[in-house]
Amino acid sequence: MDLGISGKRALVCASSKGLGLGCAEALAAAGVHLVMNARGAEALEAAAQAIRGRHGVEVATVACDVTTPEGQAQVLEAASEPDILVTNAGGPPPGLWSDWDRDDFIKALDSNMLTPIALMKACLPAMQKRGWGRIVNITSQSVKAPIPALGLSNAARTGLTGYVAGTARQVAPDGITINNLLPGIHDTDRALSLDGNVSRQQNISLEEARARREQTIPARRYGTKEEFGAACAFLCSIHAGFIVGQNLLADGGATNATI
Ligand code: NAP
Repeated sequence: MDLGISGKRALVCASSKGLGLGCAEALAAAGVHLVMNARGAEALEAAAQAIRGRHGVEVATVACDVTTPEGQAQVLEAASEPDILVTNAGGPPPGLWSDWDRDDFIKALDSNMLTPIALMKACLPAMQKRGWGRIVNITSQSVKAPIPALGLSNAARTGLTGYVAGTARQVAPDGITINNLLPGIHDTDRALSLDGNVSRQQNISLEEARARREQTIPARRYGTKEEFGAACAFLCSIHAGFIVGQNLLADGGATNATI
């Protein structure tokens, strides 16, 4: 399917690895020019170089922490009023409800709620002027069904979801869609680190931790960054203009819900 977005420009945050990289690659495959971002410059440049080689699109890189105001200013300057914005950042650490104090919550809110909001606010006016825009926020299945050990993530991402629900409807008349893509477990470094915690806590091997988690998923496997990226690229395509303010699960059926 031709996604109809060749030649458009996208800012894809936190995209040197994992789900962000999957989104960057799928957009590049559709002919979209990219600004990619991550904190580590080396992995970022290597990912960008591979994408340039495979897809022949322009790829600029900005190595910075996108959860800081300075980092946000840097990526926004490089992307210069993008047509497409994909927000993403690392997820907060797991723990118990009693572990976290105010500073932990502020950090999680900054990373997973206030950063995407700041980026959306910065990018929306130019999209409104052009009469076209696509925004996809990478959130989590924890928005639909809480993951008890990820209380910081549950809280911050639900706040973002509330903001998007209203804002998506305010900017839809301008030809802009904002949607959230909710990953269940995917085969990335984040999953490795979550499985590592389970392995230590339950005194089982990493392979056993993964195998047990896979058994809880109807698809009986972890998702891939390529599948996730393809879903993101579709939401950014010309064909998805009537999909507004939705929360799309990519979780292999793990969230046991009718709707
Ligand atoms: P990942 O494989 O660890 O990759 C994270 C990417 O984001 C890396 O490129 C990393 O590069 C970059 N990054 C992290 N923090 C950043 C920051 N502050 N500023 C700029 N770049 C940053 O993670 P992932 O699995 O793709 O997860 C992406 C998001 O989805 C996370 O919020 C995660 O919690 C959420 N999620 C993931 C899963 C899953 O199963 N994978 C499930 C549910 C939700 P640097 O470290 O060099 O900055």
